[in-house]
Amino acid sequence: MTAVADTFDLLRLIDALAATGHLSHEGYRALILHRMAVESATVAAVGASNTRSDPLTIPDEVTEALATRAAAVRDNMYGRRVFIRGLIEVSNICKNDCYYCGIRASNAACDRYRLEDADILSAAAEGYALGFRTFVLQGGEDGHFSDGRLVPLIRALKSAHPDCAVTLSLGERSRDSYAALREAGADRYLLRHETATAAHYARLHPAGMSYERRMQCLSDLRGLGFQVGCGFMVGSPYQTADDLARDLAFIEAFKPDMCGIGPFIPHKDTPMGGYSAGSVGLTVFLLSIIRLIHPPVLLPATTALGTLHPAGRERAILAGANVVMPNLSPASVRKKYMLYDNKLSDGAESAECLDELRHRMAVIGHEVIVERGDVRK
Ligand code: SAM
Repeated sequence: MTAVADTFDLLRLIDALAATGHLSHEGYRALILHRMAVESATVAAVGASNTRSDPLTIPDEVTEALATRAAAVRDNMYGRRVFIRGLIEVSNICKNDCYYCGIRASNAACDRYRLEDADILSAAAEGYALGFRTFVLQGGEDGHFSDGRLVPLIRALKSAHPDCAVTLSLGERSRDSYAALREAGADRYLLRHETATAAHYARLHPAGMSYERRMQCLSDLRGLGFQVGCGFMVGSPYQTADDLARDLAFIEAFKPDMCGIGPFIPHKDTPMGGYSAGSVGLTVFLLSIIRLIHPPVLLPATTALGTLHPAGRERAILAGANVVMPNLSPASVRKKYMLYDNKLSDGAESAECLDELRHRMAVIGHEVIVERGDVRK
């Protein structure tokens, strides 16, 4: 098949995806392999160290067509309005030992902290004054954040800011625990599935953690009425195009309210510290596909994208994303929540610099919005 025919076939796949929200495994795989081939051919031609090899900026007709379709679908659903979430990283203490994560239990070099309720409430009050109407409490699986501690904290947040949404991202818990948190007023829960391939999951996590349990948690959260977010890393070690195609099929079936995807970035003090980072260009490409699969999905331009590329966030928004999650954690702990090397927490990534983010979004024709930003049903 000639290159021209390939492009024609791929453009037809994009049409079919936009029309139906569905592709076969082979269809997703073909799109993913195309993007991978474009990036590796360019890198091979100009050399990885040459800035012209930057995979994000590689012009490619299929990628452009996909991004244009995805942005139009997003405009139709939400307009050119960017929802912001204030991210409060409540603890970097974690009982888990995910091989890729900088706050894994075995990382003795990680300087641990845990925020007090008063710190969390004052971060939220500061965020409210800045224009945030969603607070995301994220942390490692720290047993100290029991239901007994979280339930009154969620109630206090909701009573101080009744017009705000509370999102939790605190990992795997029992159904009863999720029920108690929901009952206390939590609105949303983010739990990336990490990979929809059980064998791949087993290579990223130690034996005590299971793909089935992760999926069970997502199903429990959905059943309890949370707005639920799943997601995965792009370019995580051992990931193949087939794995990514299965992630897309999972998203098609689960229809998450939110979906967080970002490139894998190595952390030097983890067992996966020697692997290469994932591709920003492929991440942005996948964001577009996910927008077409499930048009109402709330799609963040993640910190990992901004960390790997100065224009990563803008490119994500131009390709169909519509959420940014600036860091609202107290300044004293920001550098300690180091999931991967060089994780950004300043500039447009920080809540205090919202004006910079507003400006950067305005430059690309998008407006940062002061509202809860719920998923459209
Ligand atoms: N403990 C909670 C959980 O498991 O969902 C929330 C915190 S966890 C650190 C948040 C997300 O960070 C993970 O779901 C993972 O996808 C991402 N993450 C961890 N290490 C990463 C790395 N090295 N590169 C990119 N993303 C990473």
